[in-house]
Amino acid sequence: MPDDAKVIAMTDESDSLKLALRGSSPDDLSQPPPLRLPSKAALFLDFDGTLVDIAAHPDHVEVARALPGLIEALGEQLEGRLALVSGRALEALDRLLGPVDVAMAGSHGGEFRPCRNAEIHPLADPLPETIARPLGAFARDNGELLVEHKPFSMAVHYRGQPEMRAPLLALAQDLAEAHGAGVKDGKMVVEVVMPGSDKGSAVARFMDMPRFAGSTPYFIGDDVTDEDAFKAVTAMGGEGILVGPMRQTAACWRLESVEEVHAWLTRALADADADAPAGAAGKSPDTENAGQAGERPE
Ligand SMILES: [Mg+2]
Repeated sequence: MPDDAKVIAMTDESDSLKLALRGSSPDDLSQPPPLRLPSKAALFLDFDGTLVDIAAHPDHVEVARALPGLIEALGEQLEGRLALVSGRALEALDRLLGPVDVAMAGSHGGEFRPCRNAEIHPLADPLPETIARPLGAFARDNGELLVEHKPFSMAVHYRGQPEMRAPLLALAQDLAEAHGAGVKDGKMVVEVVMPGSDKGSAVARFMDMPRFAGSTPYFIGDDVTDEDAFKAVTAMGGEGILVGPMRQTAACWRLESVEEVHAWLTRALADADADAPAGAAGKSPDTENAGQAGERPE
């Protein structure tokens, strides 16, 4: 990482300026510096492609055994300022992760749950049959594409049939336009969502809660649907961390893989444990190390 990366500042208002400050190549982003805990950071985590690798079927993702404990421990270190923000329904996240006591927003923010035993607050209207029926028929008539019904959206997965993307997207856009909904064009999936379901609004809703007050938000995500959240955290003085290959993004850091995300999160906890006896100072990643990722700041 070049020396000029050391001038990273949270006061930058433009993404392009941030990119320019981060290094000589605007074509890629550096790894985020270590997260030092305790910290006044708030951490928002996408699930698929970020905490678990994407599988051929959404139900077949492998959840690392250590993941639920890792998320919960980080949440504790951040005094509750950690939330999962996923396109999946909360029911699916609960099923895959088991009882994890952290805040969650599901269905791209359509479902909002401030802590494990709290009620789910719907932030969007249910998806009408006038959208669900034709979308379901399209999936059935075109090679039995996998349909995922969610409370405020419907996703059609076309993994293995990339040629279906164009007609599926066209239908989704027509239906969305006719019924005031939106379309998310994700990785091997097209989803029609009701207004109110986007990850940026979910992050903003969490940040309005007292326990998130005054914190600096970081969002880690891989998909184009995470760009709303990258923009939201940036607007609130925070930063986005893209997972996966470089692309056009509002994030300003990048981790290559789910494995790197796990390593980054695990390291934050390990460092916190190591620092604990001496009493760690509260610092957020932006104020810490600006040097090579993987090195502890002096
Ligand atoms: Mg994702």
